Amino acid sequence: MSRGDLPLPVAWPAGLPQGFAPALIAWQRREGRHGLPWQGTRDPYRVWLSEIMLQQTQVSTVLSYYPRFLARFPDVASLAAAPVDDVMALWSGLGYYSRARNLHRCAQAVVNDWGGAFPQRSADLATLPGIGASTAAAIASFCFGERVSILDGNVRRVLTRLLAFDADLAQAGPQRQLWDLAQALVQPDADAQDMAAYTQGLMDLGATVCTRTRPSCALCPVQDRCEGRRHGDPTRFPVRTRRLVRRFEAWWLLLIERPTADGSTELWLQKRPERGIWAGLFCPPVFDNRDALVEAVPPALADHLNEGDAVAHALTHRELRLHPVAVHWPADAGVPCGDDAGRWVRRDQLATVGLPAPVRPWLEA
Ligand code: SF4
Repeated sequence: MSRGDLPLPVAWPAGLPQGFAPALIAWQRREGRHGLPWQGTRDPYRVWLSEIMLQQTQVSTVLSYYPRFLARFPDVASLAAAPVDDVMALWSGLGYYSRARNLHRCAQAVVNDWGGAFPQRSADLATLPGIGASTAAAIASFCFGERVSILDGNVRRVLTRLLAFDADLAQAGPQRQLWDLAQALVQPDADAQDMAAYTQGLMDLGATVCTRTRPSCALCPVQDRCEGRRHGDPTRFPVRTRRLVRRFEAWWLLLIERPTADGSTELWLQKRPERGIWAGLFCPPVFDNRDALVEAVPPALADHLNEGDAVAHALTHRELRLHPVAVHWPADAGVPCGDDAGRWVRRDQLATVGLPAPVRPWLEA
């Protein structure tokens, strides 16, 4: 039988799988992940921070950033009081920088609007900057035992397979329907410990068993209840018709360097606009093409540009081709690019500045 011939239900199955939540909770306690640094706490600040970092970022990467961030900002008050540039600098390399800006805004909202303590209900948490419905549910269930389901990308995959949910998740209606089903699967009498194990179990199942291309159904604690498996091809779920279209762009970056009086060097960096790619980070001047870059340097330097190898950098909706061009800037050549919006940053101070991840190696080299 081909994928298209599978006898799938038009809507979702009439009955929810019996015993899903208890089976998942028991499995999480037995075989789930337990040793991650953000587990075993009910401190909403720590849970929130880990949830935001884990959006779009691998656990292995977050493992190095999370303790560093906590060491610098041990609580919501210290984060709220910090300059946003310090937050961006610590976030540098994690990508999706709107998360860092929202993190800072959220900390300030908690301090200014909620007396320094995170609200306990998911509905209130979801009103804070950068906290979506699933993150709000994760904080509320982990920290306050609220009986509410998460529904991030991994959990959408698990539940659409479990239920053989074949409606198109590119549409708002099916998205709402799946939320309702996720909520209906929560055990109505779960206590706080159960809810923490349930939420973690959903995350663990999606991350380690019900993976995107090759789910390990034979190891799955809910395999007997899974409609997608019963139909023979669980990887056809979730169904989403809208395809991501990436636009290609070339960016030319002028790496301007000059010596300092004490024998070090410094680099000219501009703060990116508050919206768009690398928003709020510091970056060498960017040009649309090589000609525009050459026009921006004094004629005497045009023959002394040092072009490096271009690298590809994929973003959610864009594919960038980054062309680095280095130039040594004479002390008497004035402000680069006729631009007073930038600043000189000493090379040995680069670690304290928020830089786009693909650019940092060029500047630190
Ligand atoms: Fe996913 Fe397979 Fe488990 Fe179904 S049985 S939830 S498809 S791992």
